[in-house]
Amino acid sequence: MTHSTGRPILAIPGPSIVPDKVLSAMHRPAPNIYEQDIQDLTDGLVCDLKRVALTAYHAAIYISNGHGAWEAALANVVAPGDAVLALATGHFGHGWATMARTLGADVTVIDFGTQAPVDPDRVETALRADTTQRIKAVMVTHADTSSSILSDLPTLRAAIDRAGHPALLLVDCIASFGCDRFEMDNWGVDIAVTASQKGLMMPPGLGFVFFSERAAKARVALPRVSPYWDWTLRADPQMFYQYFFGTAPTHHLFGLRAALDLILEEGMPAVWARHDVLARAIWAACSAWSCEGGLRMNLSNPDQRSRAVTALSLPAPLGTQLRKWCEIQAGVTLGIGLGMAPSDDPAWHGHFRIGHMGHINAHSILGVLGAIEAGLSALDIPHGAGALSAAATVIAEG
Ligand SMILES: *Cc1c(COP(=O)(O)O)cnc(C)c1O
Repeated sequence: MTHSTGRPILAIPGPSIVPDKVLSAMHRPAPNIYEQDIQDLTDGLVCDLKRVALTAYHAAIYISNGHGAWEAALANVVAPGDAVLALATGHFGHGWATMARTLGADVTVIDFGTQAPVDPDRVETALRADTTQRIKAVMVTHADTSSSILSDLPTLRAAIDRAGHPALLLVDCIASFGCDRFEMDNWGVDIAVTASQKGLMMPPGLGFVFFSERAAKARVALPRVSPYWDWTLRADPQMFYQYFFGTAPTHHLFGLRAALDLILEEGMPAVWARHDVLARAIWAACSAWSCEGGLRMNLSNPDQRSRAVTALSLPAPLGTQLRKWCEIQAGVTLGIGLGMAPSDDPAWHGHFRIGHMGHINAHSILGVLGAIEAGLSALDIPHGAGALSAAATVIAEG
């Protein structure tokens, strides 16, 4: 017998749950894109996106997913032959590095594995060794969604400064944006990249690139940038169509307005605090469940964990079995493991993730945890007791 009838919950790390307010804002007739209303709407969105990024600099919007925003960032500051230093803490760091290489950059990857954040000292050493200062950019993933590792950006910035190196700091904030604390200008980030379908609680389809004055100068120094990815006019349009280099993503703009209203009404400190409490509730449950031959969190140090996603494992193939049980029997969809084992390796079926980004609250997270608890019992997977009350206590004290 299944107990999944009712509203399903998507607990994968992107796309995330789209709030009803966002969905209903999108449910309307197509607007005339040649009217002032949609221009004003877009001007307001850019202004509010910068409030979420905590930047006073520039923002460009693309009709794209996160990969498009990755490419946009690189296209504007890295020319073929330029050297870049890519810091990898999981699947996505390697993915962005591969894209840079495909675009012709001379890429050096420092691989920190899948269980440790970026070590700023190693970055400082690598930058000091670059005596001719060829390295144009340091690329890093703030929260790598595959491993759930959160890297500390202020200490990374400090390491770049200690090395006295002029490289730009490029940050993939796709998973962390609107979930983990992020302060672009205070933290000295030159380019921040994100997308609509995670902490911003939207369907996929919009990519965002925020860039500093230093990054803008690097763009001007490039001889040629492919016109669709060029951020110059998108960030400073003289005519409305230049925002999107063509037809505006009309309904996404209405949805984004509703999403940003939700975020800014709550306020960034409260948004971060909510993700923090709910993430700690999940970790409290996971550590109660953890046992020999049972569940394991990928990261033992909470300071190194993202507040948006938690990577977990069980002896294979129990990870896949638990995911299936939760979806079919309880209406909760958990995330597959990514980048922790090749997809044709039996070990792949040991890894899974809980996505906890965006439109989440105490009862949705307690529901996810309760479904997992039921699944562990139903499948006779060994697990410790007290997980749900441990999670409830974190929320009660929150
Ligand atoms: C989701 C994600 C991406 C990829 O985004 P797409 O929209 O799938 O292209 C890249 N980096 C991180 C950290 C992500 O979480």
